[in-house]
Amino acid sequence: MPDHYASFDFHLHTLWSYDACTPIERYFELARERGVKVLAVTEHHTMDSFREIQAIAPAFPEVAYVAGAELTVSSELGTFDMVCLGLPPSPTPELAEVFERYHRWQRNYGDALSDAFTAGGFPYTREDRLALLRRYRPERTIEVQGITHVQNGLQRDYLIGEKKYFPDVNAFHDFRIGKELPPYPAAETVIPAVKRSGALVFIAHPAGYFNLDDVKRMDALRELLGFDGIECAHDSVPPELTPFYRRYCVEHRLLSTAGSDSHSLPESPYRFGAAHEFGRHIGEDRWRDEILERVAVYNR
Ligand SMILES: [Zn+2]
Repeated sequence: MPDHYASFDFHLHTLWSYDACTPIERYFELARERGVKVLAVTEHHTMDSFREIQAIAPAFPEVAYVAGAELTVSSELGTFDMVCLGLPPSPTPELAEVFERYHRWQRNYGDALSDAFTAGGFPYTREDRLALLRRYRPERTIEVQGITHVQNGLQRDYLIGEKKYFPDVNAFHDFRIGKELPPYPAAETVIPAVKRSGALVFIAHPAGYFNLDDVKRMDALRELLGFDGIECAHDSVPPELTPFYRRYCVEHRLLSTAGSDSHSLPESPYRFGAAHEFGRHIGEDRWRDEILERVAVYNR
């Protein structure tokens, strides 16, 4: 990882994501401290934090922002996280429908997990999930999103350490869910709706999705998903692949983005995704400028 902070961070989760716990204003404070000039909050599956961002940002005139979200889609080639940048501040009707579908999916997925553990002999109710969510999420997020699924690590530790259903992590991972969990919304409905709203769609942290440097696979996913660009720098991308992905972008007239994927800060008792550090990535300022030519930038 670089020894300095980047000038932008286009992949961030706040406490409005089911598996994150950073208050919005902490990112703006840290951006000011670290010289991050523009950021994009990209919650999982929603833009539910956007009104609060709009209210908080004016106190930080040195930090601009872009409207974003990270939408996970299912497709015939697998499930993919897509970072969307430049979303409209009020969703188009079809985008509102997409977000509503994700809200429903989060609750249904949580319920299906509860049912699966319960059917396997390990009772795990919706009330259990609500109590877990309340440990790390403010009530206002639960009011908007309902009783969603719970951050993976916290749920695992609860079922092992508190419920004593499994003697250790290995036994937990050996538990096979005996039913199909609800699939993520389909790429072919989500991505066109996002693009029609004027936003840009990027395939996130792609090293796994691309089998590292499998160009055939990259071509197939580009064809299938129709993304506008690639998250070429992320701490899960081996640094030697970043220039390779960037060259692929240039060759195919795609944009390149970068972000930390921060979910929590060192001060948080819940170190969700603790390896991701806000502002830390090797993305280049030129990529930032190419994106900012194409999307609305607020607070500057
Ligand atoms: Zn993310």
